[in-house]
Amino acid sequence: MIQKPVYLDYNATTPCDPEVLERMLPYFSRHFGNAASRNHAFGWVAEEAVSQAREQIASLIHAEPSEIYFTSGATESVNLALKGLYEMYGTNRSHIITVSTEHQAVLDTCRHLEKLGARISYLSVDAEGLIDLDELDSLITDQTLVIAIMYANNETGVIQPVEEIGRIAKKRNLFFFSDATQALGKVPVDVNRDGIDLMAINAHKLYGPKGIGGIFLRRRSPRVRIYPQMDGGGHEKGIRSGTLNIPGIVGFGKACELAGQMDTKQVTSLRELRDRLESGILDLAGGATINGKNAPRLSNTSNICFSGSEVRDDGMLSALSKSVAVSSGSACSSASQHPSHVLKAMGLTDREAYASIRFSVGRFSYIEEIDFAIEQVGKVLEGLRKVRIN
Ligand SMILES: *Cc1c(COP(=O)(O)O)cnc(C)c1O
Repeated sequence: MIQKPVYLDYNATTPCDPEVLERMLPYFSRHFGNAASRNHAFGWVAEEAVSQAREQIASLIHAEPSEIYFTSGATESVNLALKGLYEMYGTNRSHIITVSTEHQAVLDTCRHLEKLGARISYLSVDAEGLIDLDELDSLITDQTLVIAIMYANNETGVIQPVEEIGRIAKKRNLFFFSDATQALGKVPVDVNRDGIDLMAINAHKLYGPKGIGGIFLRRRSPRVRIYPQMDGGGHEKGIRSGTLNIPGIVGFGKACELAGQMDTKQVTSLRELRDRLESGILDLAGGATINGKNAPRLSNTSNICFSGSEVRDDGMLSALSKSVAVSSGSACSSASQHPSHVLKAMGLTDREAYASIRFSVGRFSYIEEIDFAIEQVGKVLEGLRKVRIN
């Protein structure tokens, strides 16, 4: 028996892995100490747990533990990276280059900085959701401070050419900030190979708990300096004040350790589930298309546009939502009625964007759930066709 509704929205959030939860539990009760308490064992135990987690996270992204700072999540890390850089260097270098398909956290932070005097350039993307490296190169001036480009898109799974972006940033002496929230644990992220100087990540997209995230700040060549955005007790070397969320940090570390142990077999089986879903749905819905199909994509994500089939607007999503948990794109903006800014930037019409649905599979997805989802899509299509005939 499968549990209903079937969860195919892993890009919005993931359940905690049971091993992660198990590791966290003692830190709510027995090991409740404050990592900043230097004078007794309660503090030492917490501090020890934090430093282990820092190592686990650093190891997954090929960084040094001292380059990881804890925050409340990726949104905070994005804010801290961009506002922190701008406050540190913005008087001389006030130009930021980003992309129109970024997560709202990046776009809204840029908008905020614009009000403070920053100049923001928004790169366009092609029909597959990819940026143009020549366009990026041509936008750089001696005022440019940072290139802010996400690793993998949350709505489409499209992976940007981060290594090439990193090379351009290095050559032109700029910082490269990447929101790698969706990439972490799904593709191998290596801050050195990829030339990333600042990076935002979190735990809850990676089978860890919500409300905990991190920022990577490169220490050497170049050494990244940012202005803290939270004043207080000077935790995290003054970069982010506030008592550390020990259970969250422990869970984040364990989640990264588990992600690091993922082998090609697990990645392949995720891809197989996604591909089965994709081809099953395309077989049923003639005219449906995959957004970002020809770009490098995360192997768990499928963003399907039903507008070529008989589906109008968001009829598919609302009809499907009783049995299959999917999303119209980003969970963060799905409260708004606007069509996805990501799909619009890829050239879709409003109608096509409304008729697109993001399916994302994960560690606990299995074949019967996929087949059930395909069957449900079939039923919805049949229902919608009937309505149109009558
Ligand atoms: C989920 C997500 C965020 C926000 O992360 P929180 O930890 O929930 O603040 C930022 N960027 C991307 C790409 C995401 O997918």
